[in-house]
Amino acid sequence: MNLERYQRIQHVLKSRQIDLTFCLEEVHKPNNVSAVIRTADATAIHKIHAVWPHAMRTLSHTSAGARNWVEVETHHTIDDAVSVLKQQNMQILVTNLSETAVDFREIDYTKPTAILLGGEKMGVSEQAKQLADQDIIIPMMGMVQSLNVSVASAVIMYEAQRQRQAAGMYDHPTSKLAEKTIQRILFERGHPVLAKVAKRKGLPFPLIDEQGEIVASEEWWQEMQKK
Ligand code: SAM
Repeated sequence: MNLERYQRIQHVLKSRQIDLTFCLEEVHKPNNVSAVIRTADATAIHKIHAVWPHAMRTLSHTSAGARNWVEVETHHTIDDAVSVLKQQNMQILVTNLSETAVDFREIDYTKPTAILLGGEKMGVSEQAKQLADQDIIIPMMGMVQSLNVSVASAVIMYEAQRQRQAAGMYDHPTSKLAEKTIQRILFERGHPVLAKVAKRKGLPFPLIDEQGEIVASEEWWQEMQKK
């Protein structure tokens, strides 16, 4: 990969907010999931969680390649998802169109935070509401009752981004991606064809140096070239 791309990837990965995430509970339309992922990438969110009790969904083109840059961790149940998020000491917020929910702008998003979003028809489950620390709502002043889920997530993501930028959290994130993860992403995204071959052959990923070049032994290259 060229130096400019290497530096761009490094810069993006270093500003990723690993203590901010969104969890989609049974959001079924691929276009919606992809749109959430696209805004997550734009607001430096590293990972999205998705609760899909049945099959893994395929994602649509709406993410414009963002799927390659935002990780998606899937869970079978909302309990599994929330337990993973709680282990990371996140405050759990649930988007809930109720009278008791607080305006989403009243929340401090500089804290480690996970926001639960619900499906297109049913919204979030009762269980998600029970598990959360706080209900939040985006005020609705018109005739329709709710926003599209990807729009709702974008509105909240940008409020979180605004607060975190004001707090200097993009220049100095409170938690950073592990060097191992950065190296993996640099190889997978900077050298996608080689990464596919290495994965298929079960070879370890090589190091990427400060110029974006691969650092690997002769043996590794020989294994890569074998048919
Ligand atoms: N009938 C569903 C309900 O009562 O929740 C509507 C679901 S809405 C189309 C899909 C998801 O978008 C919601 O579960 C929530 O996550 C999010 N959402 C939509 N409008 C929202 C709002 N005004 N405030 C907070 N979240 C909202």
